[in-house]
Amino acid sequence: MSKILVINAGSSSIKWNLFSDKLEVEAKGVAQRIKMASGILTLDYKGNKTDTITELPTFLVTVKKLVEMWKQEGIISNFNEIGQVAFRVVNGGPNLRKTSEVTEENLTHLVNSIDLAPVHNPGAIEAIKAFKEMLPNAKMTMHFDTAFHSTLPKVAYTYPINYSITEELNIRKYGFHGLNHHYIALKSEEILGKKGVNVVSLHIGNGASLCAIQNSQSIDTSMGFTPLAGVMMGTRSGDIDPSIIAYIMKQKNMTIDEVMKMLNEQSGMLGVSQLSSDMRDVGKARLENEQAQFAMDLYAQRISDYLITYLNKIKGKVDAIVFTAGIGENDDYVRESVIKNINLLKLKIDDEANKNRNFKDYKLISTADSELPIYVIRAEEEMYIAKEASTFFK
Ligand code: ADP
Repeated sequence: MSKILVINAGSSSIKWNLFSDKLEVEAKGVAQRIKMASGILTLDYKGNKTDTITELPTFLVTVKKLVEMWKQEGIISNFNEIGQVAFRVVNGGPNLRKTSEVTEENLTHLVNSIDLAPVHNPGAIEAIKAFKEMLPNAKMTMHFDTAFHSTLPKVAYTYPINYSITEELNIRKYGFHGLNHHYIALKSEEILGKKGVNVVSLHIGNGASLCAIQNSQSIDTSMGFTPLAGVMMGTRSGDIDPSIIAYIMKQKNMTIDEVMKMLNEQSGMLGVSQLSSDMRDVGKARLENEQAQFAMDLYAQRISDYLITYLNKIKGKVDAIVFTAGIGENDDYVRESVIKNINLLKLKIDDEANKNRNFKDYKLISTADSELPIYVIRAEEEMYIAKEASTFFK
């Protein structure tokens, strides 16, 4: 009867999902605005969604308030019911390459690699420490976005820069969104009825990455040493000529931190459209706003360029192209634009299926005569983590 708690912590938020031992979601919610003026605890339980405004000055106080709320609401009757806590961690760094138990040694590895994910990892570390204190009897695991990409061959993960610096500083393509890309590989196996699938997975949300999956393993992915690389995203530029950074610094008298902030937070869809990072806003504006339309054209082109490269990279027959995450699941126009740019193959979208919003976990959006099948699969990161955690100690 032991429940599994899945935790996805950011710099100021803790997203949580509580699963039963049968892996059904019993309750979920998010604690937001941690360390800010006033925090919010959102609870989604038995069909009711409630918001509570409360002070959340630290991660420890937040976790204390969370577990007290679960008891008060009758979600748990005592703390020991939560037998396992599974944490999503963006980057495990060079030493944590697969799902790992939370031990002192592994926590030290994580702390030592904070520079690799300065935006994402500190929140995860604080959350782990807080839950260790509040739920000392629970077993704990860390699930890394980088882990699925540990199978990348050396030619895919190495950057062509000075090799001694590469080795000294552990510079390599880590790749991200691996929990969902792995889930997409497993779900594709289920949908296609075969083991070892060849798929290009397009995880397009606010952050976005493509993954070339061969025999259900990651062989290349578009994010790199950090999640700034690859395709154009909501606020991130994706790949650019690195010389642009030095040029902007000199011409605009900006510091390296200012330019990096611009590339991470004020570029991509937001920077090009000069309107919004949210695809829904830009999509609405594009018919009257030329710059919005241009931003969408550029966005699709950058994705199509990676898609054709990855289709070519997979050895053997490609089984499917899969769209997933916020935009990949919901935006038929982006999907159509990305596929239209592929000239080497005869890919055909079924317009009605593409526009149909009424589907459960996946749908086929290509016609029978399309050279490759194209699917939309809903992202299921939390469920995937819960599943991994449920078998970890067995
Ligand atoms: P994150 O990378 O933050 O996890 P998500 O995968 O949740 O992102 O995707 C968030 C993005 O999905 C939003 O910024 C928005 O642009 C896009 N999105 C969500 N719903 C829709 C929709 N119905 N149509 C188009 N875009 C959508």
